[in-house]
This record gives sequence, structure tokens and C-alpha cells, in this order.
Amino acid sequence: MEDGFSLLDLGYNYHAKSILVSDAGNEMVKVPIVGVVIKYRDLKILFDTGPDSRRKYPIMIELNTTQGAENFLPNQLKLINLETKDIDLVVVSHLHYDHAGFLGELKNSSIIIQKDELRYAYNPDWFYKNVYYRQDFDYPDLEYQTINGDYELVDGIRIISLPGHTPGTQGLLIEANNKSVIFTSDAIYTLENIFPKKRKQGFDWSTALWGESVDKVKLLIKLHKVELFPGHDVQFYSNKNFAPYIYKLEW
Ligand SMILES: [Zn+2]
Repeated sequence: MEDGFSLLDLGYNYHAKSILVSDAGNEMVKVPIVGVVIKYRDLKILFDTGPDSRRKYPIMIELNTTQGAENFLPNQLKLINLETKDIDLVVVSHLHYDHAGFLGELKNSSIIIQKDELRYAYNPDWFYKNVYYRQDFDYPDLEYQTINGDYELVDGIRIISLPGHTPGTQGLLIEANNKSVIFTSDAIYTLENIFPKKRKQGFDWSTALWGESVDKVKLLIKLHKVELFPGHDVQFYSNKNFAPYIYKLEW
């Protein structure tokens, strides 16, 4: 793989649009589940793993989580000639089932997560009990590296803390010479949630903190001309290229 990033097609959920934008009504939408691989010189970084729908959690039935074999993480990585063991760092946005389902297969990687998220996942609030599953993340031989807040991985690649959707949701900011992008995962489900003004998401732990995180991202967009890649935006991803396509980055 050349230096740059590739979007991974990790399947989809099919549910009412109001889960994404709370006042958007009950139209059913096919909602993409996306991961990202970033190659920076010798370093291969994965942002989110997608679900493993073979586990058939109740929430997967409720939200019609759908994957063909080609959508499982290892098979998506193959499209760019990588295997799970080639991934050096996994940045996991949060531990909801549709982002963390393949962590158990990433035992050669360092898994970077906000400390608040890892703790919360073991004892979520009542309204989130059906989206966290220990089977996704509780492996004694996984190498978690917990962080608190923003963290610069390398020059030009920085983890951005975006709490609100969950206590420890985090995004990934890439500032290359030719392009700047931020992957927010569920901190921002869709562009409609923040432009032209805020519209609440259907599922957040703290709407107050969510709003502050949105403002943080909006400022990055305004001051640094960063392109926003949201978590689950049907429209946005219908116009993007997925692996094996590589968005080239110049460092
Ligand atoms: Zn989530």
C-alpha cells in the first residue's frame, strides 16, 4: 500500500433515520459501517474494526446489521494486501459493537483507547447495555494503551478526544501536505447533525458534551480546512471510494 488512507466497507445497519438525526423521522435507511487504514511511512494504523455479525447480538437483529464475508475486517484488509497482523496501531473510536467487533483478532497491535471508554464499556448506563459486549473487547492478551484526551501519534496524525456519544469517543485527525481530514466516527454520525446547525443525534451518552465536541470539530474545519469524514453518513459515503482505492497523502 502507498502512503495514504483507504476506507473499508464493513457492512451496514438498516434502521430508522431518527437513530442518526433525532428529528428526521422514521424513513428506513441503509447506514454504512466504515473503517479506515492509514499508511504513514512504515506505520499501518487502523481506525475502527467494524462489527462481527456472526455473533448475532440482539442489537444486530434490532438494527439489521448486515455483512457479507467480504465485509469482515480481515477480508477488507486483503483488498489492500494487508493482514490483521500487519496493523501496528489500532485507534478505536469507542467500544460499541459496530466499531469493536474484531479487536480480538488484533493481538499483534497496540490498541489505543481513551481510559474513560475502556472503563465505561465494562459498566455502561442502562440505555447503553445493549451496545457494549465484553466478547468484543475483553481479552487479557490484547495490548491496550489508554490515553486521556488528545494525543499526537506521529507528526501530522493526532487523536482528538470527542466525548459525548460515549464517555470516551475519539476521532483521528490527519494533516498531510496535500490534504487534511478528520474521521469522527459516531462523535458526528452525519453532516446533517452539524450543518447548518446542530441537530441532536438519536443516541448519545451526553448531549451537552456532544455539542462541545461538535464545536471542536467545526473549529478545525473552519481554521484548518479539514475535510470531515463522519461516522455513518449514507449520502457522504455514497460519493466516496472504498478499498482497494487509496486516497494518497504526501507527508
Ligand atoms: Zn456508537
